[in-house]
Amino acid sequence: MAGVSVRPRAALAPVSVATWDELLAGEELAHLTTEPAREGRTAPVPDSLRPAVREALARRGIEELYAHQAEAYGAAGSGGNIIVTTGTASGKTLAFNLPVLDALDADRHARALYLYPTKALAQDQARSLTELGVASVRAAIYDGDTPTERRRQIRGWANLVLTNPDMLHVGVLPRHDLWGDFLHNLRFVVVDEAHVYRGVFGSHVANVLRRLRRLARIYGSEPQFLLASATIANAGELARALTGEEATIVEDDASPRAERTVALWNPPLLDAELGLRASALGEASRLLADLAGRGLRTICFAKSRKSAELIHRFACDRLDAATAARLAPYRAGYTPQQRREIERRLVEGDLLGVTSTDALELGIDIGDLDCAISVGFPGTVASLRQQWGRAGRRGHGLAILVASEDALDQYFMREPRALLERRVEAAILDHANPRVLDGHVAAAAFEAPVDEADAATLGAEALERAPHVPELRRTPRGWVWAGKEAPAARVPLRSTSPDAFLVVDASSGDVLGLAEQERAYSTVHQGAVYLHLGRQYLVRELDLQARRALVEPFDGDWYTQAKKETETAIEEPLRVERRLGLELSFGRVSVTEQVVAYQKKAVADGATLDTVPLELPPTTFDTEAVWFVPRPHQLEGLEAMPLLLSSLHAAEHSLISLLPLWAMCDRWDIGGLSTNLHLDTGAPTVFVYDGHAGGVGIAARGFEQFEGWVADTVRLLDGCPCERGCPSCVQSPKCGNLNEFLDKAGALTLLTRMSNSG
Ligand SMILES: [Zn+2]
Ligand SMILES: [Zn+2]
Repeated sequence: MAGVSVRPRAALAPVSVATWDELLAGEELAHLTTEPAREGRTAPVPDSLRPAVREALARRGIEELYAHQAEAYGAAGSGGNIIVTTGTASGKTLAFNLPVLDALDADRHARALYLYPTKALAQDQARSLTELGVASVRAAIYDGDTPTERRRQIRGWANLVLTNPDMLHVGVLPRHDLWGDFLHNLRFVVVDEAHVYRGVFGSHVANVLRRLRRLARIYGSEPQFLLASATIANAGELARALTGEEATIVEDDASPRAERTVALWNPPLLDAELGLRASALGEASRLLADLAGRGLRTICFAKSRKSAELIHRFACDRLDAATAARLAPYRAGYTPQQRREIERRLVEGDLLGVTSTDALELGIDIGDLDCAISVGFPGTVASLRQQWGRAGRRGHGLAILVASEDALDQYFMREPRALLERRVEAAILDHANPRVLDGHVAAAAFEAPVDEADAATLGAEALERAPHVPELRRTPRGWVWAGKEAPAARVPLRSTSPDAFLVVDASSGDVLGLAEQERAYSTVHQGAVYLHLGRQYLVRELDLQARRALVEPFDGDWYTQAKKETETAIEEPLRVERRLGLELSFGRVSVTEQVVAYQKKAVADGATLDTVPLELPPTTFDTEAVWFVPRPHQLEGLEAMPLLLSSLHAAEHSLISLLPLWAMCDRWDIGGLSTNLHLDTGAPTVFVYDGHAGGVGIAARGFEQFEGWVADTVRLLDGCPCERGCPSCVQSPKCGNLNEFLDKAGALTLLTRMSNSG
């Protein structure tokens, strides 16, 4: 349980800064800063804490708490919901465990439910709860791996059940009759890693939690929600969006922190005109080899398994055999025993360097390291901080971000304050998206008739949707389920379309995941290279009838990019405001896409190897968009074609590349369209839309933060050293036009004029 003990850590082998000083002297260093050490602020263990819990803490050497842990305990004690949003390794776990353990010890009937996004995390938590050894606490994991014969026993015996949202959704709530006693006595619901529940997944989980609240109420309980999240801009909003209730924010981090050096590392520019840079993998392997060669324990996070393997191999090549033998890759699928073995070897200093995909960051707790290298921005500041949080727990640490050529990475290299000081990134979700909500209204009606009173837990929107959900029937008792099987099983939590395509590994028969209908044709068309948990697959066949993509493991050195034609139609503007000198709109649009071809591109340099035509039907989906029509004076001098289109198109791409900084999503979650003449507006128009049917709040966030978003984009374009546009500013890896018609200077002119009108 990291960060629990307030005793100074034993064996504080001080790390000498001089050991890496000379390493950080090259021209690649884009920014260097030192985050100062911080003294911890402690508070006494509260007198009200039960003796059994107090003794358990004492056995672990904990005689005091951090101030924020005591604050969380106090806030939970007064009966409300809380969200703890302090830094990595700040003892968040103890903050929510204390009130729970206390309550379970005081009342032998009381029950608690812990939700974890991954099985590995649930296992880690179960282990540390067991190690804590409070006799009255009977913790058990209940997930897809739990044998049927054990399940009954757990429901009856355990007073602390750890599970995941999927199991709660299909295994627990629909069978609430089996959980009656548990629900009746449910006092606490813990939602750890709450920032993970965003976008489509978060929108579903928000509904699952509302269904849980409703059933608990039916069985006579009102559980308190205790959430823990990485540091984000909108913790209170996230708690409210996820649970439907207010929560007290506990954010004043009182844990001590060692000094940490932060380095932003930009691979050297090889061709300034084209914006071409040296490989981030090569730079990372050099840093890893150098740091490990100096005896510093280092973890390196890469975006894909292939990259992690290459970094490991390149680093080994740079070292003598004895040192190279002390580097290891860290892979998905390791058992808890194997993970602990790696942890032990690191702690004992037998291992010096570990390379991992960032898909694993949540499941890793490998203790005290000196250095952490992130290769490519992992997508969110929260993830990056989580990766960096591994460095320097035993003394002065070093955290490095090695930039990829991606626009957001390059923006951070030039605007380090946007990464290190501003907290703008907000986790967003929308439980009321009808594409998400309808399935949960059906599931709720299956669980118990839905009537007006349920608006208090399920939300008013659920009642509004009920008449639109097929297979629901209105009865005097409320809306009831009139279909056959339990509807929850038909509602996947990671997709907004119930008719998503299954992605199946033909070599093993395993289902790897789902591709939403509106994206299947561009991501899993025949011949596409598909990335899953950092591994590459080649799509052998896309079966439109069976709604299935058959893939096989793939080791080639090319990737694919779909060429598609896109149209948007404005269905309904919801908000129209005068912003930045023009009319800015947010509303509902329908998007029609047709994938017409794909290109094979070399991993090494992005060169086009082949273009293959495809014959696929068009798909249409409804979503939310933000759009604007520039005023004539903002387009002055850009009116000629194709300059006009190229300027709008480049502006659209660069805007999309920076929206994830504000909206905590992936650029693949966002779509765009720019046109010199749109049928609905009758004018040149730029659309940025939510890539998920129904929308999950991404475009809405762009509308709210438009001024800051545009200002960031101006800085991105203005600062990029390329001459005419490059992958680090206006080119997009997912452009349906394959990055044709892009004018960087025109986009900069337009966006600067807009920004100046604000
Ligand atoms: Zn550029
Ligand atoms: Zn494009």
